[in-house]
Amino acid sequence: MATFLPKEAGETEKGYKPIGWDGMTLREMLETSERLFAETGRYWGIEELTLKEKDPIRYEKIFAKLRGGLVNARETAMNISASPIVQELGELCFAFYTPEGDSVALSTGIIVHVHTMSDAIKFMIRNDYELNPRIRPGDIFSNNKPSIGDAHNADVQTFVPIFWEGELIGWAGGVTHVTDIGASTPGNVPVGPISSYEDGLDLTANKVGENDILYQDHEIRCEMGVRTPMFWKLDERTRVAGCHMIRYAVERIIQGEGIDTFKRFIREAIEEGRRSFIHRVKELLIPGKYFAVTFVDLPLEGEMGLPDYAAVDRLSHAPHELTIGPNGEFHISFDGASKWGYHSFNCPPSAMQGAIWVLLTQTMIPNDKVNDGAYLATTHFFPPYTLANPVVKEAATGAAWGFLIPAFTGLIRSLSRGLFARGYLEEVLSSYAMTMNAMQGGGKDQYGRETGILSFELSAVGTGARSVLDGVDYAAAMWNPEGNMGDIEVWELVIPLMYLGRSVKPNTAGPGKYRGGSGFQSLYAIWKSLDIVMQNAGDGNVFPAPGIFGGYPAAAGYRHNVLGADLLKRFEEGREYPTKENDPGDSEISRLCEGKHLFDKRTLNYPYRMNHGDIYYSWYRGGGGLGDPLERDPALIEEDLNNDILLPRYALSIYGAVARQDENGRWVVDREATEKKRAEIREERGRIAIPVFQFLTEERERILKGDIALKVRRMYNESIELSTEWGNWFKSFWNLPPDFRFSEDE
Ligand code: MN
Repeated sequence: MATFLPKEAGETEKGYKPIGWDGMTLREMLETSERLFAETGRYWGIEELTLKEKDPIRYEKIFAKLRGGLVNARETAMNISASPIVQELGELCFAFYTPEGDSVALSTGIIVHVHTMSDAIKFMIRNDYELNPRIRPGDIFSNNKPSIGDAHNADVQTFVPIFWEGELIGWAGGVTHVTDIGASTPGNVPVGPISSYEDGLDLTANKVGENDILYQDHEIRCEMGVRTPMFWKLDERTRVAGCHMIRYAVERIIQGEGIDTFKRFIREAIEEGRRSFIHRVKELLIPGKYFAVTFVDLPLEGEMGLPDYAAVDRLSHAPHELTIGPNGEFHISFDGASKWGYHSFNCPPSAMQGAIWVLLTQTMIPNDKVNDGAYLATTHFFPPYTLANPVVKEAATGAAWGFLIPAFTGLIRSLSRGLFARGYLEEVLSSYAMTMNAMQGGGKDQYGRETGILSFELSAVGTGARSVLDGVDYAAAMWNPEGNMGDIEVWELVIPLMYLGRSVKPNTAGPGKYRGGSGFQSLYAIWKSLDIVMQNAGDGNVFPAPGIFGGYPAAAGYRHNVLGADLLKRFEEGREYPTKENDPGDSEISRLCEGKHLFDKRTLNYPYRMNHGDIYYSWYRGGGGLGDPLERDPALIEEDLNNDILLPRYALSIYGAVARQDENGRWVVDREATEKKRAEIREERGRIAIPVFQFLTEERERILKGDIALKVRRMYNESIELSTEWGNWFKSFWNLPPDFRFSEDE
C-alpha cells in the first residue's frame, strides 16, 4: 500500500474519502469488477442489458454522443500538432475508460490502443495512485512504457480523470506517435537500443500536471530528453486538449441523461461489446485449432557499435495458434516463440494486445462499438521470457512492431481459413505488408536544429490479397488502417531530405490468382544537413508477408544507398539523375549515379553517417498473394505490366503469361500462348511433385542430419528449450527421439 499523501492540511488517512463509486476506492472497484467477472463470466456480473433493452434508442444515442465526442476530440486536437505523423497521417487516438480502466468507446485512428491505455490506467490503480500521488479533478497523467501499457515507447499517452460530484466517473485517454523519443539512436522506432535503459524518455504513468496545467518540471524534463522538443510539446498539447474536450463531452452527456443512467450505460456498453464479440465468433468462424507461423529475421551480426552479445544474426520464431471453441471462445497462443533478446524488438503483453485489437477491429468487429468487452471475450497465452512477453525489466521495446507486424500475419491467415471454411469469401485476406523500410535517422536538420526522423510514408503499404479481388495498393498499415503516405512537400519541410522521385515499386506485391496490394518507392537526396546519420530499418532476409491458398509471399527487402554520390555535380552539369529503381537487376540508381553504392541485402542497420547530396533509397512492401498465380486473369496481368506493378521478366516465370509490347508500347498478354504455357507448367509441376509422405520422410532425414541453416537450427533449439509442450509437439510431429536437439556446429 502506498504512503498516503494528505489532500489538504488536516486530512488523515482515516478521514480519507475514496473517489470510486459507492464509497469504494478505485482499487476496490477494480478488484470487485475482476471478482464478479471471474464468478459470472459477465462484466460486473450484468445479467440483463436493461437500459439497452428498455430504451434502445436512448442507449444508442448515448453511445453515439460519446463516440462523436471522441472523434471530434481527435479531429480537432490533431490540428494543434505540428508533426506530420500526427497531423497528416493521423497517428493518434482518443478513448474513454471506466473508473477501473476498461475502455468504453474509442475514436478513429490508431485503434491499437483499445487495451494498452487500459493497462496503464489499471497500473495506476494497482499501485494506489489514488493515495499517492492522488487522483484529483484537473490532474494530468502520462505514460509511454510498454511494460506498463503501451505498444512501443514512441506512442505517448495522456490521461485525464473525469469527476462528477466528487466521484471518478471515468478517464479520458489520448495517444500520439511522437517524432523522437530520445533513445540511444535517433527516430521513433529506434533500432539502436539493446536494453530498456537505452529506450529513451521513460514516462512510467507519471502525474505530469494539475488544475489542467502541465507541470513545468515535466515539460523541462521532456524538452531535454528528446531530440525534437517542439514537436513533442505540441503533441503533448494535442493530447491534453483532446482529453479536455472528451471531459466536456462526457459532462454534457451526464447533464442530459443523469449520472445513474450514464453509470449504467458504460457498464452495459462493455458487456454488450463482450456478447457481440462472442456472437461474431460463432457467426464467422468454425471451432478448432488454426496454426500459422512467421519468422522474424534480425541480422545484426557485424554491426559496428554493438557489443558482441547484441551483434548477432538471429532468426526468431513466431508460431501462432488460434483456438476457437464451440461457445465462441477465442484463444490466442504464441507458445514456442523465441527468447527475448538484446535488441529493441521485444513485445510486452500490452503491445501484443495492441496488435490483437488493431487486427480484430479490421476483421471480426469492423463496427464502431469496439471496447474492452471484446477483450474480456478473449483469452491469450504469451509465454514468459519470449519476444511475446520478455518479462525481464531490461528488455528494450522501442521497435516492438518489428516483431508484432510479421508475427500477427498468423492471426489474419488463421481468421481467413475460418472465414473461408464458413463461406465468407469476401472477408478472406492474405497477409498484410510489413511496414518497412523504416527510413530513420537524425542529427541536424536543414535549419541546423537537432532532429530525429522516421518517414511515416510507411503507413501506406499494400494490403493482403482478397479471395475475390487484389489487395489495395500503397493504401494502409496494419497498425493504422487510415493509411496515408503524406505530401512530399510536407515531409520536405520537416526532414532534411529532398525527394528525387516517388512512384510504384514493381514486384513488391505477392503474386497469386489475386495479388497483394503493391508497395511504392521513394528516392531521396540528403539535403542541407551538415550532420546526419541514417539507417535502414527493414525486415532482414525472410518473407514477412506470406501468401495464402497457393498465393506467393510479398518480396522481402534490400538496400541501395549511395555515399559520396555525384548527384550535385549532375545537377550543375544538367545531367540525368535517378528518380527510382524499378528493377534492381537493371538499376537506374547504379546507371545514373556514381559513388559508393551500399547495394546489398542488409536491410537492418545501425545508423551511419551520410552527407548533403548522398542518395537514400526507401521502398515500401506489398501484401501477400492469394490463390495459384496460374489462375490469374490475363487482363489483370496486362494491367499490372502497364502500371509498373509487375516487371515484364516475371510475367512468364510466375504467371505463365506470354506477354509482348504492341506498337504503342503497351503490354498485351497472348491468351492462347498463355493457356499453352500454363498447361506446360502444370504438367511440369506434376512431374516434379512427390507424395506428401515422401516429402515428410525426406525432411525428417534433413532434420536428423542437421542439414539446415545454423540460425534455423538455433531457433528451433530455443523453442524446444523454452517450451516443453511445443518441443514435444515438434518432436512427435517429426517422430524424433525424446532428447532430440539440433547440432549447433557451424
Ligand atoms: Mn506508434
